[in-house]
Amino acid sequence: MSGQQLKDGVRNLLLLPPARPLMALTSSGLRSILMLHRFADGAGGRGMDIAMLRSHLAWLRRERYEIVPLADLIRDLQQGRPFRGRGVTITIDDGYEEVADLAAPILAEFDAPATTFIVTGFQDGHCWLWWDQLEYLMVRAPVGSLELELAGEALRLTWEDPGGAIRAAGQLAERLQWVPDQIRLDTLAALCHRFELEVPATAPPGFRPMSWDAIRRCAASGMTFGPHSVTHPILAAVSASQAEAEVTQSWSRLQQETSATVPVFCYPNGAPAAQLRWHADLLQRQGLAAALTTVPGYPSHPRTGPLTAEEAPFFLHRFAWPDSLSELAELTSGVWRLRRFLAGLPPLPYRV
Ligand SMILES: [Zn+2]
Repeated sequence: MSGQQLKDGVRNLLLLPPARPLMALTSSGLRSILMLHRFADGAGGRGMDIAMLRSHLAWLRRERYEIVPLADLIRDLQQGRPFRGRGVTITIDDGYEEVADLAAPILAEFDAPATTFIVTGFQDGHCWLWWDQLEYLMVRAPVGSLELELAGEALRLTWEDPGGAIRAAGQLAERLQWVPDQIRLDTLAALCHRFELEVPATAPPGFRPMSWDAIRRCAASGMTFGPHSVTHPILAAVSASQAEAEVTQSWSRLQQETSATVPVFCYPNGAPAAQLRWHADLLQRQGLAAALTTVPGYPSHPRTGPLTAEEAPFFLHRFAWPDSLSELAELTSGVWRLRRFLAGLPPLPYRV
């Protein structure tokens, strides 16, 4: 039995009735912010299958989790009010079109408020997401290999079918997200040249954002929206002036189009090194109250640590919504934290 099988086996025990007292204990007063991106209806799509979303939401409701709107969670943090019961907060990054078409009806069915983070330049049709452009090019490439040099390191990718091309595009995107904007743009241009292809000016089917009208329709059924930059660069990898423009313009543009906003920023990428300490001050000056990373962990009232009480809400942790129900149970019940503690791992600090 592999370590992973053992872990999965132990996790599955969490779904059995005898685990309830332990989970009641570890989840008391706990909040988890869960993060979703894309949704699919059936196999072969690019995201969480909506049948899985439905079954996970049904489990959360059956287990009497409160689904806490992001604005309420932030208000409790700001006011230092202890969390009661157990709850999850649902967030969706990037605002692809299927958020409205596929996810919103299911969220409404479970009366589950969610906050979607919008990349306003993508929304307005001024750009589309650069990693999608990579995938678009590599799936259509006439050859199944690519060699290039990035920041002095050689990278060689090969693929045999569209699935392999999508995986190779993902590997390249991983490397490209940390390079300066210009190098990323130059690399995309080099790929177009090498493959003799053109990237459409606006996102083609499969890569489109939800429309502003769809955003307002979703708002009418309880969804809220927050800013996620204009063009989705890693803020720590761009100049201070571009970082400021990405924040201010995305926040003001979003407020022009909908009143269903939450003053919470979502960092592009959100990994530990993707945001810097001074970003807290930048966001606060724009009237924003908090910001979300993708560093795994629970949002908590600041006590001790490298950040001040004013800074801490601008580096809140989140969990990627897992594929398996047992892993969802482990995260949302706090058993994840207990397991880290038993393994001798320290609590994850705010990493800025
Ligand atoms: Zn994003």
